[in-house]
Amino acid sequence: MTESATPKLLYQPVTALKGVNEATAEKLLRLGILRVVDLLFHLPLRYQDRTRIYPIGSLRTEQEVTVEGEIELTEVVIRARKMLLCHISDGTGWLTLRFFHFTNGQKHSLSKGAAIRCFGEVRQAGGKLEMVHPEYRLVNAGELPPLENTLTPTYPSTEGMQQRSLNRLIKLALEQVDQLEELLPQPLIREYQFPPLADCLRLLHQPPSELASRPLLDGRHPVQQRLIFEELLAHQLGVQQARHQINQVQAPRMQAPNQFFQQLLKRLPFAPTSAQTRVINEISHDLGLGSPMNRLVQGDVGSGKTLVAVAAALQAIANGYQVALMAPTELLAEQHYRNFCTWLEPLGLDVVYISGNQTVKQRRRQVENLLLGIGHIAIGTHALFQRTVEFLQLGLIIIDEQHRFGVHQRLELREKGKQGDYYPHQLVMTATPIPRTLAMTAYGDLDYSIIDELPPGRTPIKTVQLNNDQRERLIRRTEKACQRGCQVYWVCTLIDESEVLQCQAAEDTATLLREQLPDVTIGLIHGRLHPSEKERIMAAFKANELQLLVATTVIEVGVDVPNASIMIIENAERLGLSQLHQLRGRVGRGSAESSCVLLYQAPLGKTAQKRLEALCQTTDGFEIANIDLELRGPGEVLGTKQTGDLRLRLASLLRDQHWLPRVQEVAKQIVANEPEKALALTQRWLQRPGGDSAIRFFQS
Ligand code: ADP
Ligand code: MG
Repeated sequence: MTESATPKLLYQPVTALKGVNEATAEKLLRLGILRVVDLLFHLPLRYQDRTRIYPIGSLRTEQEVTVEGEIELTEVVIRARKMLLCHISDGTGWLTLRFFHFTNGQKHSLSKGAAIRCFGEVRQAGGKLEMVHPEYRLVNAGELPPLENTLTPTYPSTEGMQQRSLNRLIKLALEQVDQLEELLPQPLIREYQFPPLADCLRLLHQPPSELASRPLLDGRHPVQQRLIFEELLAHQLGVQQARHQINQVQAPRMQAPNQFFQQLLKRLPFAPTSAQTRVINEISHDLGLGSPMNRLVQGDVGSGKTLVAVAAALQAIANGYQVALMAPTELLAEQHYRNFCTWLEPLGLDVVYISGNQTVKQRRRQVENLLLGIGHIAIGTHALFQRTVEFLQLGLIIIDEQHRFGVHQRLELREKGKQGDYYPHQLVMTATPIPRTLAMTAYGDLDYSIIDELPPGRTPIKTVQLNNDQRERLIRRTEKACQRGCQVYWVCTLIDESEVLQCQAAEDTATLLREQLPDVTIGLIHGRLHPSEKERIMAAFKANELQLLVATTVIEVGVDVPNASIMIIENAERLGLSQLHQLRGRVGRGSAESSCVLLYQAPLGKTAQKRLEALCQTTDGFEIANIDLELRGPGEVLGTKQTGDLRLRLASLLRDQHWLPRVQEVAKQIVANEPEKALALTQRWLQRPGGDSAIRFFQS
């Protein structure tokens, strides 16, 4: 029995509450709140302490507090702009209230000697404490207004939804909280001495004032621990439901071994590493099972993921199926296209390239080949999954370097590739190193393989950071390196600027470098060049006809020119850790000693400093990922922020990862013994804003 089957008020639509009309209900739906019970699980982001008055003398900056004092002086001053300053004191210290917008009436009411109570954030300006635009009211010393009894929660909200209304509705819902069903197994509750669910929710929505907001918010309070466990559990169950659903359908059975791959191996100038071989075998096994493979292959930059993709593709082709390989950028798609042509054409196979930039006429031939089954593998960007591209027998979809793909998109893609009763297999390849426990939660619907070994003969990359004022010296050293036969990437970055500006910056840099280094052959590549032009330039760089390549971050993923051994990154302080790691991974692919120079503009912020130091200290992708997790949090590291896959309310994958093994265990138990609770848990926690619930997808 699911929660929604019970007639309690808790499980009725929010409109059952007093004062909730359709318009309000619609706004609430945007917050993922459909039923009264959903209000209870709409948890505060943070709290304000409006329960007591702080002595001004005790204030510290960034505190959000209530103070009370007497107005000593109110003045209008004109600095850069006109403002009203009101100086108050309470006998323990002085505080200035600063208003940039004010009325004459306001000015007059804030008269000397009046008593005032205000609430706001304490800041420091010119060595003095102040509040900018505090909430305030003049008080009558005889009859002080009452203070709040509990901390005041601030909830995630949406346009047109006041905190006050949310607060009121949640209070109404809290009256029903004792009706809530306990969904965690009793033995677990006893084992961890988890407090009762109703107490937890009451406490989080209305924390008593003695719980200062900090300790309550850091996730360690027992009531939070309990809810965190439940949330992670719900997530795990959602993921397992997705996996279960995937296994319910059929996929083409593809036999191993495949003669094509054996032939390819004979021609290959190197032998696969043992890690590559292991992963290739794991994939090969999946492909033979008759249910769709859903496998994530993680391998650090340069670990040789392409060969693994080729092996998978050849098994599909050998069994008479077609393959689609999707890359995130045109540049990378083009490079894959060239690689696959080199490797597959000698085997008599036909490689098709689909690009968003092709004219209808150019594309028609390619599309026809796929439809007729003449084309064995199609390579391209998202353009591959446009309506006009159809396959005769699509058996395998490979998504390269696409860690910004969420569960939804993976399922959608699979749906598009469906033919008759059969779904294609899916292989996702990423260079983002993800700790295993995290991967099991974030990508729990996927099986997981790691290429944990780099091909032999690589020399580690030496990384240094360099202040931009050393640029001249760097240019001279670059010149010498080019004379010695080195090839250099010079990456120009402008984060958060338009692509046009990025390309402009790269063009300017190229012009300057050409002036300063007349004897070095310099190329320029950026996103706005015509694809054929990009291809020509990459080919020239690969053929060592260009010694230095000025580029935007278009070369971030996948580009492979083994002879290039120097990477210079401008404005490195503006890039994220994993992006820098990716960029750096463009060098160190050959046997030559490689180096990476991180040019930065001083002064460096604290986090930027940590990022650059981390890069100089290690080239290990896992270590870098862990540091990145600490600095940024999992949502961003896994690229799931936008896709909404991992919208956790209370839990933090990083902070709470110690729970994950236990969570997985309990999830399995529940599915086996109490499946109805599994459904209730996912319904409770995985509602999505706008009713777009991940669960809906799983259950459809
Ligand atoms: P990534 O995992 O970053 O996609 P690539 O597949 O582009 O890495 O491979 C990086 C480079 O290593 C390529 O030049 C590729 O040909 C080469 N390579 C791949 N596997 C091996 C191997 N087993 N031994 C030597 N070189 C290899
Ligand atoms: Mg690659």
